[in-house]
Amino acid sequence: MIWVAVDTATFFMPACFAGRKSHRYFKWLCIASNLLQMNLILVCCVFCHMKRIVSIPFLFLVLMNARAQDTTASYFYVKTTGQLPFLEYGLGDDRLGGAKMTFLDTNVVLKVIDSVGTDYKVQLSRYHTGYIAKANVKPDTAQHNKPYYLTASWRVYGNATHDIVAVGMEERLPYRSIQQINPSRLVVDIFGVTSNTNWITQLKSVKEIRNAWYEQVEDDVLRVFIELKHQQHWGHYIAYDSSGKRLMIRIKRQPEKLCMKNLVIAVDAGHGGSNTGASGVISKGFEKMYTLQFAEALQKYLGRKGAHVYMTRTLDVDLSMTDRTLALRQQDPNLLISLHLNSAGNPAAKGTSTYYRYIGFRPLTQTILDRMLELGLDNYGNIGNFNFALSGPTEYPNCLVEIAFLSNEEDERRIMDPKFHRAVAKKIYKGIKDWLKASRK
Ligand SMILES: [Zn+2]
Repeated sequence: MIWVAVDTATFFMPACFAGRKSHRYFKWLCIASNLLQMNLILVCCVFCHMKRIVSIPFLFLVLMNARAQDTTASYFYVKTTGQLPFLEYGLGDDRLGGAKMTFLDTNVVLKVIDSVGTDYKVQLSRYHTGYIAKANVKPDTAQHNKPYYLTASWRVYGNATHDIVAVGMEERLPYRSIQQINPSRLVVDIFGVTSNTNWITQLKSVKEIRNAWYEQVEDDVLRVFIELKHQQHWGHYIAYDSSGKRLMIRIKRQPEKLCMKNLVIAVDAGHGGSNTGASGVISKGFEKMYTLQFAEALQKYLGRKGAHVYMTRTLDVDLSMTDRTLALRQQDPNLLISLHLNSAGNPAAKGTSTYYRYIGFRPLTQTILDRMLELGLDNYGNIGNFNFALSGPTEYPNCLVEIAFLSNEEDERRIMDPKFHRAVAKKIYKGIKDWLKASRK
C-alpha cells in the first residue's frame, strides 16, 4: 500500500485500491511534485513490496523535499497589541512567570515561526528568537516582502523632561534594552535592521546623554549605545513615535537637586482585595493588610521629610499588576518602593531582602538593605534579575523590599508591632538618602 499525503497529512490516498498499475503512476506523481515544489509526503507500508514500487533513495528525496519546504514556508506576521506586551527569552516558567527579554510598544511587527501552547515563537533576527503571548498579538495583514530594512538619520536632543535619541526606521521592528554600569550606558538592540545611518544630529539641549553611537553587531542587529553623564541610571522608555518612522529612546535625567523635597516617590503596598498574599503563622493576618500598614507608615515618614509620595493603593482593593504599572507610568515617579512580606515552606526561613531586575537600579536596593539590617533582621540577601512585575518597568529606579517573613514566628512578632512599621519606614528613608548621596558622585 502507498499513501500520499498532501500538505502535512491533510489528504491521504490509499494507492493499492487502484491496483498495481497505479504504483507507477504515483512514482511519476511524486517526481512531478518535486519539480513543482509541492509539499507531498510519501509513506510506504510493509505490504506493498516497497523495492518494486519506489527505490529507497527516491523515497528519501521526496521526504527531504517535503521537510525543506516545511521550514521555508511556515511563518506569518503579527503586530503587538494590548497593554504591556513583552517578549520572553524562552519557555521557562516559575511562580512569577518566565524570564522577560523586554516590554514592547504596540503595533511592533513580529515574524511568527512556531506556536507553543499560549505563546508564539518569533524570529527577531537571523540568530535571535523570542516568545510572546498569543493574547499580546493580532494578525498583521500588511505585505512584508522587503528583503531587508534600513535605519535612517538620528537626532539626539532634549525636551523639557527627557533626553531623546530618535532613530529613523522604515518599520516598527522589535528591540530590547540593556543597562550597563561602569561606565553607565544604555544599550538598545534593534532587530531585523541594517544601518544606513550616516547622519546623527546632536543638539545642546541634552542634559544626560554624553554620547550616542551605534555598531552593526550582526548583519541584521543594530546596537545603539547611549553613554550617560551620571553613574546612576534614572530610567528610560522606548516606543515608536506616532508616524512609526522613528524609534524614540527617552532617557530620564538625574534630578537637578538630589534632595527629598525634589522627588516623587511611589510606594506600592503589595496585594489587596481578593489577592490576600501570605498569611501569618501566629496572627493569621494577611500580607495585604500588613503591606498597607507599612506603606502608610512610609508615606507619612517620607511626607514629613518633604517628598511627594504617590501610593498605588490606600484601600483594601483588587489592583492588578498591569493596573499598577500603567498608573505608575502615568505618575512618572523618580523612584518606586514596593513593599511585601516573605513566606516560605520552611518555618525557620527568616530575614529581610531587597530585589531588583536591572543592574542599573541595583544601588538603591543595596543602600536600603544595608539600613534594614540595622533593625537586627537576618540578611536574606540582595537579589538580582528578579522577575517580579513591578521590578519590570525601566522608567524609574525601583526596589522591592520583602521586609521579613510572615511564615517565621520571630519575624511575624515584629511585623505585628506598629513601632516596627515606623522603624522600617525610617530605615527605608535612610536607605534612599544614602543612595541619593552616592548618586551625587
Ligand atoms: Zn507578596
